[in-house]
Amino acid sequence: MAIVNCPKCTKRISSQHKVCPHCSLPLGDISDEERKRLEIERWKDKVYRATNFSYLALTSLIVGVLWWWMSGAGAWVMPPPIPAFVLIVMGVIGYLVGRGWLLWLRIGPGRPDHVRKRRF
Ligand SMILES: [Zn+2]
Repeated sequence: MAIVNCPKCTKRISSQHKVCPHCSLPLGDISDEERKRLEIERWKDKVYRATNFSYLALTSLIVGVLWWWMSGAGAWVMPPPIPAFVLIVMGVIGYLVGRGWLLWLRIGPGRPDHVRKRRF
C-alpha cells in the first residue's frame, strides 16, 4: 500500500482506494490524458482565483480612492479618512500580491508543461 495524491483534488490517499474519498473521482482506470486534463483544470482554477483576488484588491483600492475624493473639500490635499486609507493600503498590497501570485502561476514550477506554449 502506498500513499498517492489524488489527481483531481491532490489530497493524499491510499493507492488501494478505488474512488477518491474526498472528491469521489474514480481512480485506477484513469488515463494519462485525463490526468493531464485534471492537472490543467486545477491550474486554471488557481489562475482564476488569483485573478479574482487581484480584481477584488483593485476594487478595494478604487473604493478607497473614491471615498477619499468624496470625503470633503480639497479631497486630495487632506489625508484620507482612516477607512479609506485602510481600503487603499489593502488594495495596493492585495493587488501586488495577486499579480505576483499570477506571475508565479504562469512561470513557476507549478505550471503544467503542456500549457506552457499557450498564450492568454
Ligand atoms: Zn480526490
